[in-house]
Amino acid sequence: QKRRHVENSVANVKKTNKGKMDQNRMAPCLQLPLDNKLLENVIEKAKDWALMHGACMRSRTNLNKDVLQFAPFVLLPSTFPRREFKKAVEIQPILNELVHKVAHDYEFLSSSLKSTNTVDHFTRRLFEIYETVRKDGITQPVSLGLVRSDIMLESTCSGKERGSAAKSDPYCCWKQVEINTIASGFGWLGPASGLIHRYVLQELGRMDMIQNLPENHALQGLCQGMLEAWKLYNNEKAVIMFVVEDVTYNICDQRFHEFELRSQNPNVPVIRRNLTQISERAKLGSKKELILDDMEVGVIYFRAGYEPGHYHSENEWNARLLMERSRAIKCPSIYYHLAGTKKVQQALAKPGVLEKFLSPDKTSVVKEIFTGLYSLDKDEFGDRAVQMAIENPGHFVLKPQREGGGNNVYGDKVRTAVEAMKDSEERSAWILMERISPPMQLNYLVRPGDPNNGCPPLSDVVGELGIFGVVIGDSEKILVNKQVGHMLRTKLSTADEGGVAAGLGALDSPYLC
Ligand code: ADP
Ligand code: MG
Ligand code: MG
Repeated sequence: QKRRHVENSVANVKKTNKGKMDQNRMAPCLQLPLDNKLLENVIEKAKDWALMHGACMRSRTNLNKDVLQFAPFVLLPSTFPRREFKKAVEIQPILNELVHKVAHDYEFLSSSLKSTNTVDHFTRRLFEIYETVRKDGITQPVSLGLVRSDIMLESTCSGKERGSAAKSDPYCCWKQVEINTIASGFGWLGPASGLIHRYVLQELGRMDMIQNLPENHALQGLCQGMLEAWKLYNNEKAVIMFVVEDVTYNICDQRFHEFELRSQNPNVPVIRRNLTQISERAKLGSKKELILDDMEVGVIYFRAGYEPGHYHSENEWNARLLMERSRAIKCPSIYYHLAGTKKVQQALAKPGVLEKFLSPDKTSVVKEIFTGLYSLDKDEFGDRAVQMAIENPGHFVLKPQREGGGNNVYGDKVRTAVEAMKDSEERSAWILMERISPPMQLNYLVRPGDPNNGCPPLSDVVGELGIFGVVIGDSEKILVNKQVGHMLRTKLSTADEGGVAAGLGALDSPYLC
């Protein structure tokens, strides 16, 4: 019966995607489907492997903090073109440089966010913190950027865009979805996914394939970045503070960062506090040191503070301002946070803008990875974008200035939303982005509590690759600029978003081909 189930699902996939199949389908790394007995057996082992190696999250349904579940994953690594992967890795230092320079350009940030700030309360509040510390004089000129550039392969390309891709390739290039400058997660779960896949391939007797899984030292690289910032702070007693949510679902990812820091340098204490606790217990010392529970904080690593829900009252906003006023090195500083907004991303895509920040050769490389990004401001350009969205909603994603997934608008809802705000200033809070169509491939989605008796059907999935960057510096110079690793998240090809923590996506790792 199970075998029939698998075969049926393959047949379904073939039926529903008929016509599109040749055009935008990547071959999986192995011949599929797998034999049912083998599948059941390897999934059972892989789940336990994930549980026992910390590829886990807290459950959203079982609120007992002592209980972990494995994070959803796909059984096999997804094929990803080697050349495109290499390009993504190589371009990261340029993106680091770009984001660093943008973060330090007050004029650019303020003009790019001007219209949005009039209608988007949250972004305005962040910007007000920036204005306040600018007026006071920036206490800590050094910023720590632990960024992640997220990209998707594009499968629907016009002739000229195909570049060096072969005619038979189901993609032509990749495009950037966004760059994250705050709480760029999966520094652990990214590498962990590659480790799951190493184990799975080994158990499938395919050791020969393991060479195509790229090394991934994201966790070490990100933590090394934090420790370099800590050294620059130059106080041996200073601690590193993680700013965390009230309940952390993505706990393994965060704790593995902490464990890695402690193992790289056991003399650096690591503490975790939420914004409310910081508001109650932190104060500034005579030299604007951030003092909390009698400890001096040298580096602040934000894994919270990127969405309105993290600020329950004025207290949490006061805490954010206090930290920004302090001498602690922030990851990110407020202007780095603002540099990662969608509105800034859209402003960077305007003709002639990248040139202000990058050399001509770097500019042309970065231009290629941008897809269409349009302002919805109440002006002639915005009107044109509104018209495009109404005429062709499926071609676009509508995005507000938010992070953490689940905030965008897709499909026909793009039209409804744009029509509803057409005549109001509110539309300046949003941007319109061309929708990327990544090629699909078959895989098995392994989820906790899956009802398929340990034998999930083959599904059509698409991936989003994230490349991690570390950048440290001030307005004058960049001291550290590195690419440090990657993560891959995969979702059903029919899903709009693929947040793993939100339960929509699955851990994955690239199989280079
Ligand atoms: P967030 O900061 O909330 O993560 P993103 O811009 O990354 O916002 O959008 C969330 C998700 O929506 C992405 O992970 C991706 O799955 C999907 N998405 C965003 N932009 C696009 C796009 N232009 N084309 C296709 N999918 C997109
Ligand atoms: Mg984001
Ligand atoms: Mg994202």
